[in-house]
Formats: sequence, C-alpha cells, structure tokens
Amino acid sequence: MKAAQIRRDFPILHRTIHGKPLIYLDNAASTQKPQVVIDAVSNYYSEINANVHRGNHLLSQLATDAVESARDKTRAFINAGEREEIIFTKGTTDGINTVASSMSGFVNHLHNIVISASEHHANIVPWQMLCERTGAELRVIPMDKKGVWILDEAREKIDQNTMVVAVGHISNALGTINPVEEIVAMARKFDAAVLIDGAQSAPHIPVDVQHLDADFYCFSGHKICAPTGIGVLYGKRAWLEKLPPYQGGGEMIKTVTFQKTTYADIPFKFEAGTPNMAGMVGMGAAIDYLMHHGMVNLAAIEDDLLEYATSQLKTIEGMRFFGTAEKKAGVISFLIDDIHPYDLGTLMDKFGIAVRTGHHCAQPIMDFFGIPGTVRASFAFYNTREDVDAMMAAIKKSVQMLR
Ligand SMILES: *Cc1c(COP(=O)(O)O)cnc(C)c1O
Repeated sequence: MKAAQIRRDFPILHRTIHGKPLIYLDNAASTQKPQVVIDAVSNYYSEINANVHRGNHLLSQLATDAVESARDKTRAFINAGEREEIIFTKGTTDGINTVASSMSGFVNHLHNIVISASEHHANIVPWQMLCERTGAELRVIPMDKKGVWILDEAREKIDQNTMVVAVGHISNALGTINPVEEIVAMARKFDAAVLIDGAQSAPHIPVDVQHLDADFYCFSGHKICAPTGIGVLYGKRAWLEKLPPYQGGGEMIKTVTFQKTTYADIPFKFEAGTPNMAGMVGMGAAIDYLMHHGMVNLAAIEDDLLEYATSQLKTIEGMRFFGTAEKKAGVISFLIDDIHPYDLGTLMDKFGIAVRTGHHCAQPIMDFFGIPGTVRASFAFYNTREDVDAMMAAIKKSVQMLR
C-alpha cells in the first residue's frame, strides 16, 4: 500500500493551516473523510433522497435499499451474526445511553454496574445516571501507572449482583488496548451483561463481536472515516428483544392505538423517527473503503507510526508519557517538563500540526495522574513518518519558545 495513494483519497489532507501543510494528528477525536465517502453522501442527496421504509415510490425504495445495504456492510465489518443486531445510532454516546436507559427496568438498588478507571465520559455518565435512577452501585476497576487495568481487582468488583460491565476496548486518552476478553469471561460467571465501548477499536483494529462475545458493542461513524451523526449499537438478539425501546415514535412501531402500541421487531424497535439516511450511506462507503484496504493492513501502518513516534519523542528532554502499556494503539499522550499542554498545542497549531490538548473527555484519568491534561497525538492510516518528523520539528521549536 502506498501512503501517497491513500493520502490522495483524502482531500482535506491537501489544505494548509496558517500557511503550512496540514499535519492532522487528532484522529482519536475525529477522522477525515475519503472522497468516496463524500461522494456517497453527495450522491445520496442528488440521486436517492426520500424517506425510508414507508413509501411505495421508487425513490423511497432506493433509499431503503441504500440504508439497508449499509446495515449489511456494518454487520460484516464487525462480524455480527445477524443484520438485525445492528442498530443505527447517532454515535457511541447515543448507543451507550440507549442501553443504559433501556436497562433501567432490570436494575434495582441491590445491583451494581462495573466500569473502569480509564473510561471516556460517555461510558461513565450514562451509568451514573442509571445508578441515580435505580439506587444501584457504580464500581470502578482501577488501573496502574502504566494505564493497565488491575485484573485481580476486577475479579473482586464483578459479582452475582453485577448487572452490567461497561468497558472501553481501547483508551482514547492513553492508547491502552484493554483485555476486554478477560472481563467478558469474568462477567459470564455471573450472567452480567457486557457492553464494550468500541469508539477507538472499530477504527484501529479488526473487530469480531462474535469472538469478543460481548452483549453490546458501540462505535461512532465519524471515527472510522464516515460522517458525523451516525453510529452503531450492536447487541445480541436475545438482549435486544428483551430490552424495551429507548425512544418512541415513528419507524419503531407495529401498531398504534390510544390504548396500546406494539413495537416493531429489531432493529427498528430501537430506531425511532426518520433516521440519518445519508449518514448510513456514508457509513457503508467508509466501511467499503476500510475493508478494501484491510483492517489488518491499516492497523500495521498505525503500529509503525506509534513505534516510530514514541522513539522520536523519547529523545526530547523532559518528556513524560501517560499510557505506557505494552499493548497500545496509535495514541500518544504526553507532557514536556511543566509546559502547559494548551500552550504547546497552540504553538504546534501555528506550524500546521493538529493535536489535541486537555483532558480528552476522561477527567478521572487526569485526576489519577494528578495533571490538568496532556498533549495527545493520535494516528490514522493516512498519516506517515514524514508527519511524525514534522510534528517533532514543531515540538522542538515550540519548546524552545516556551522554555
Ligand atoms: C469518542 C469516544 C466516545 C464518544 O463518541 P461520540 O462520537 O462523541 O459519541 C466514547 N468513547 C471513546 C473511547 C471515544 O473515543
């Protein structure tokens, strides 16, 4: 695979920032879109647009075919067993909230919900809200200084009263690839449901939800080169059939009278209202693009960038890394001396380098390390070693100005 060829597919990578070529290293926040995705969305609106699952007219049928074909592609992308197990959402946050809300009726004050110390706010707050509604206890699997979960403690937290274990597959702030398989095995002993926040694994490693054996798996389109406002909640059929719908409205019903409404079968039971059709179509195009290149191949590019960038950054005096697990994806969180991450990030931007600074929607992690935030460089397969070199040059110049 030629890097130059891949980069040609992403129009935004050819623009400049403050007169310098854009070096986009904020992929854990959102990814850029290849032309095929932009074209699919544009073509949807210029050739297909109509409401789905309703009209008998040709456009409505074409629109329905387009979004249902995106569902098939999504099923294949994460190797779900059945297409009905793929629910389209607004994104990861929406998927987790759907499960946390729908679970309410199954949870009471004797139960507990288990999360981990390295979760994104999206996988903390909905569970806190569920606990507030039901009186259940929120338990947190702790991590060590490398950003690795302490599994012995996880074994103590998960017990016969655990209803849900909700954990991130890959940490967006630290890059740790978490041992979710071991957590699933622990939860299985007690029949607890497992939800995996896959916002950072879907873009970066091949995912097989049947192999993971989690009950739920969520991810966001905008982090896998698809449009914003579209995401996926995978759930095992048995769970999706058991859970009540999260929202009511059109699309999700079988029959409605003022006395009683019966719900549609899955997946529609969880897709109230007119869905984000263009987003679904864009998702399908993004998945085609990723699968055409092969997730294994794309992951290898990012692994090389992670290794190269880590070795380069190590040479900078005063460098402190946060997240030093052995198994990591392409995320590097760091601080240099006591330079404030915001100052460093602002100067790097002047050199065209887009990195993220702050708490990365994971304030408890920053509290754990006793820092206000970090600078985070996060890679996608369209980044190159030249991008890393440009980042290094910008860091060196910025640090000189700030010291
Ligand atoms: C980005 C992210 C989320 C939230 O995704 P949204 O697209 O904002 O809903 C949740 N968890 C992790 C690990 C993330 O990286």
